[in-house]
Amino acid sequence: MQMREQVSLQPFNTFGVPAVARWFSAVEREQDLAEALDFAGSRDLPLLLLGGGSNIVLTSDWPGLALHVCIPGRETFAQETDSVDLRIGAGENWHQLVLHSLAEKLCGLENLSLIPGNVGAAPIQNIGAYGVELQSCFLRLEAIDLRDGSAVELDHHACGFGYRDSLFKREGRDRYLITRVWLRLAREPQLRLDYGDILAELDRMNIDDPGPSDVSRAVIQLRSAKLPDPSEIGNAGSFFKNPVVSAECFESILATDPDAIGYPQESGSVKLAAGWLIQQCGWKGYADGPAGVHSRQALVLVNRGGATGSDILDLAGRIQRSVRDRFGVNLEIEPRVY
Ligand code: FAD
Ligand code: NAP
Repeated sequence: MQMREQVSLQPFNTFGVPAVARWFSAVEREQDLAEALDFAGSRDLPLLLLGGGSNIVLTSDWPGLALHVCIPGRETFAQETDSVDLRIGAGENWHQLVLHSLAEKLCGLENLSLIPGNVGAAPIQNIGAYGVELQSCFLRLEAIDLRDGSAVELDHHACGFGYRDSLFKREGRDRYLITRVWLRLAREPQLRLDYGDILAELDRMNIDDPGPSDVSRAVIQLRSAKLPDPSEIGNAGSFFKNPVVSAECFESILATDPDAIGYPQESGSVKLAAGWLIQQCGWKGYADGPAGVHSRQALVLVNRGGATGSDILDLAGRIQRSVRDRFGVNLEIEPRVY
């Protein structure tokens, strides 16, 4: 295991903001983790776990050890007649896994196509898109409990999944290093098409009897047309979660803004489209400074060149204040801020 000093983290976060790690190591095998954790523990170094860096905001240099979790591997288990279990290394790229599953004629991940990042981070916020969440095919995960270095397994229930949320963002924050994720994928498609513009895109593609690969291609098309590619312009996807508010709160917004977008939830509350709220406050396409707002999706903050993590947080704060002043709604930041 190679331990490097004073390593730039700019290539390891998709916002592309500058930050330097005092120590840095890339870990490809579970066996090497113990050594890395000993190194950090004996020097009292705080740990920064890194996957693809697509859901983090770095606001300063990292004084401890940045561990790039690169554990590879895709194994297939328990071939039932109607489903297949996959055990995937935390360092595998998420979208490559989706493509692999489709090539193997396995279904369930198609709506989650083109989400950046690695498999090990997918449970952290229960990644979701187009009405499907990781939890719909999640079985369990393998992890190291960083409190004592023991190997543990956490099943679906233990992970406490919620909307862009899990145990790992709450009481389990910074406690577990995820090494492998188990998914159960179906052989028979159960497509979710009634979300966003999927049906319209399939129609545009002249596909009237879609299969999972068609849905994946439609999602890739939609995402590519709307979202900034982090290799071209730094970003971390949606910067805020869609707020879930009471039905009364939504009614009061509708009274002044009849076009407001809200999706009723089973609980009786209403999920608002954060992008719409931000757009109404005039931020869409904001380009006055190094941090800006994407011109095609107001929910995405971008590094227009030379932005620091603090520039991005400053802009986020201004957006939060204006949405609160106009709608009385609090926007919660989605990526993890360091
Ligand atoms: P990182 O950014 O590296 O890490 C995120 C968090 O997870 C950090 O706190 C980190 O410490 C922790 N972590 C990483 N690996 C491990 C591990 N092995 N064990 C324990 N903790 C770990 N998200 C969605 O949910 N849906 C979307 O549709 C979506 N679209 C996006 C589009 C774009 C253009 C971008 C840039 C981002 C998008 N995201 C989306 C956000 C992001 O891609 C996901 O949250 C993704 O799962 C992050 O993976 P990562 O490997 O980059 O994680
Ligand atoms: P969109 O299709 O323009 O939709 C705007 C918002 O409306 C989305 O946030 C979505 O909520 C919600 N929505 C759309 N149809 C819905 C339905 N039938 N029922 C309930 N809610 C509905 O969104 P987009 O920006 O192009 O993104 C498409 C998908 O990719 C979304 O699911 C989005 O979450 C996901 N995405 C996530 C990130 C991230 O970083 N987290 C980044 C880019 C895209 P939800 O967001 O709750 O789905």
